[in-house]
Amino acid sequence: MHIMGQDQRSLDCARDEGFVGELRSEIMAKGPLDIGRFMALAVEHYYSTRDPFGEKGDFTTAPEISQMFGEMIGAWAAQIWIDMEKPKRVTLLELGPGRGTLMADLLRGTAKVEGFHAALDIALLEISPVLRERQKAILTGHPVRWVESLEAVDNPVIVIANEFLDALPVRHLQYNGEWQERAVGFEGGGLGFTHKPALPELLALMPKDLPRPKAGDILELSPARLSFMGEVFALLKQATGAALFIDYGYTRPAYGETLQALYRHEYCPVLDHAGEADMTAHVDFRAIEQAADVNVFGPLTQAQFLLNLGIDHRARALQKASPRHTEDIEKALRRLTHSDEMGTLFKVIGYSYGLTPRLAGFGP
Ligand code: SAH
Repeated sequence: MHIMGQDQRSLDCARDEGFVGELRSEIMAKGPLDIGRFMALAVEHYYSTRDPFGEKGDFTTAPEISQMFGEMIGAWAAQIWIDMEKPKRVTLLELGPGRGTLMADLLRGTAKVEGFHAALDIALLEISPVLRERQKAILTGHPVRWVESLEAVDNPVIVIANEFLDALPVRHLQYNGEWQERAVGFEGGGLGFTHKPALPELLALMPKDLPRPKAGDILELSPARLSFMGEVFALLKQATGAALFIDYGYTRPAYGETLQALYRHEYCPVLDHAGEADMTAHVDFRAIEQAADVNVFGPLTQAQFLLNLGIDHRARALQKASPRHTEDIEKALRRLTHSDEMGTLFKVIGYSYGLTPRLAGFGP
């Protein structure tokens, strides 16, 4: 998103004909693409061709706002390792690490936890070669490996993911007297929305407790996210461990779509800058909660989770150590925890298997 930056820039409509050309060829060969296929191709092209973060990029994330975010996740991860009774080897797996900032802050913040770093096998799952280079540069001095899938992990595992699930594809059903699947076709020289028949596998994922649809209603579903979460649950069951997902999203399904594109800190129509804009969708937390066959914790708001881990105490300590940054630290704390900022929209869900019945950060 993720979230808009402070300074807004005007839209500069540079379109990548190369990528749109690829989409056109696939549509010509196979017919209109479902939204999920379109989103998967656009996200992969986008992340593979740039570092999108910061004021000059398209969006800013929590670890890029303040070191306190990664430090809190570090406190969480170290506590999980202690709750695991300090195994000699533990895999710390981050999904979609971006610039590697969260991991760098986590490692700095846990340097004094005796035995923790020596036990760590740090594994990163990252689709973008550009970002893999950034991660390598910021994490020098730590043994880090990149994995292509969750199958490459077999130790007890601690999984962390900030703003990863929102990048996984969603699909859209639309009600026009019957449910059809929304798709992207090529018309009049450009990309446009169209429909195709809805497959039974997709219809089977519809929540049972929604009101009757009206004409035009859209329902957003994410089979890709559910199948990815299935892999996470299988990993936890096989290796034992815990997983933490932080993202923006909702806990009660409703009609409507949340697919959005952010281009240089401005929202733009999702077909306008395909492959050149950050394309995401809000996470349906109830769906990933109900799909779990491991222990589930939360979802909590990001504010509650960070306060449970003591972010306000950390802010005070930083302010004391560096009085001239008092105001910046206060601002960062506010951005991460206030309900007008990221505090409520962002949620945290935890999963565990084979550990104590509690999970750090989720309360008593
Ligand atoms: N966690 C970072 C970055 C969030 S942006 C932060 O909070 O700043 C999303 C990240 O997920 C990027 O690193 C992106 O390249 C990666 N990503 C997106 N789709 C992916 C996929 N299918 N597989 C692996 N990584 C993916």
